[in-house]
Amino acid sequence: MFESKQIQEIEKWLANKPNIVITAHKSADGDSIGSSLSLYQFLKKQGHTVSICHPDKMPNFFTWLTDADQILTFDEDRANVEKLLADADIIFCLDYNHPSRVGDMQAALENTKAKKIMIDHHQKPCEEAFDILFSFPKISSTSELIYEFIAALNQESKIDETIGTPIYCGIMTDTGSFRFPSTTARTHQIIANLITKGVKNHTIHENVYDVNTISRIKLNGFAMSEKLTVLQNLPVAYIALSADELREFNATKGDTEGLVNKALSIKGIKMAIFLKEDSGYIKMSFRSKGQTYVNEMARMHFEGGGHIYAAGGKFEGTIEAAIQKLVTLLPDYVTNSNE
Ligand code: 5GP
Ligand code: MN
Repeated sequence: MFESKQIQEIEKWLANKPNIVITAHKSADGDSIGSSLSLYQFLKKQGHTVSICHPDKMPNFFTWLTDADQILTFDEDRANVEKLLADADIIFCLDYNHPSRVGDMQAALENTKAKKIMIDHHQKPCEEAFDILFSFPKISSTSELIYEFIAALNQESKIDETIGTPIYCGIMTDTGSFRFPSTTARTHQIIANLITKGVKNHTIHENVYDVNTISRIKLNGFAMSEKLTVLQNLPVAYIALSADELREFNATKGDTEGLVNKALSIKGIKMAIFLKEDSGYIKMSFRSKGQTYVNEMARMHFEGGGHIYAAGGKFEGTIEAAIQKLVTLLPDYVTNSNE
């Protein structure tokens, strides 16, 4: 799947002992972290000079991954990140396809002579922003693409537990634990290979999913019992949480992750939306199934984008106004059929 001409070009660049920086999108998730750390471990094993620069901090259920503490963030370590990006020869851009997805780190990413290699699975990449684009919207996750990338470099045999664990973690989180339609036979083959190489699958599930705080469970319970709304005339459910409500439950990064999928799990529901008040705007998460797609609505109306069944965006204004806008738009985007 990776074009051999481009792979050869990259092999040529790598032969010159370049300074390499790995970047990923803001609001780090399992796939952006998993793809970054697996590529990092692989390149380190090959003897390369490599660092990881992310826009912001990761949720605490990923900090157990080996070398998670080596990831620098623009938020907390701005001067170092700016210098690393400025001095880089190669920048890998993982799990995003437009420079605006790195938030405040965008200027530092663009102010560099480094060659930029994008490896991503979102639709509609910004072609002029990268020197080499590996864009595969049908593939489950960027972490799955990192496996394929290493295989394309003829280095599959080098994948060990340290490289494989973050790959597994990224595939697991982006496929909803191997259940979304993006999960293919190849995905499972890769997972089988990783387990053969020593990756401890059950430990990864426990480390990511069985580390809830009591306040997170209570916030989830509150959201389910008090804040879940199902529309009367469309198969749509949404949950909206205000800044006050998040504060009341001491919510930290990642605590609301997965809530939108709970809303989508209601029988008959085709689209679920989660809204939360962030600093100065409303952050929105969209999920769907069947013939109802969310990426177009996120892109056209909420300054966002993503995949057909999972997208995100934002709204400037109150939660009530965001919901009002949604209710007006939804009839155009949600099918009432049983497909
Ligand atoms: P989440 O709802 O988990 O934040 O994001 C779901 C999907 O939509 C992810 O693949 C993510 O990369 C994408 N996404 C989330 N927020 C944005 C955004 O503001 N802009 C774009 N282009 N994609 C987003
Ligand atoms: Mn991803």
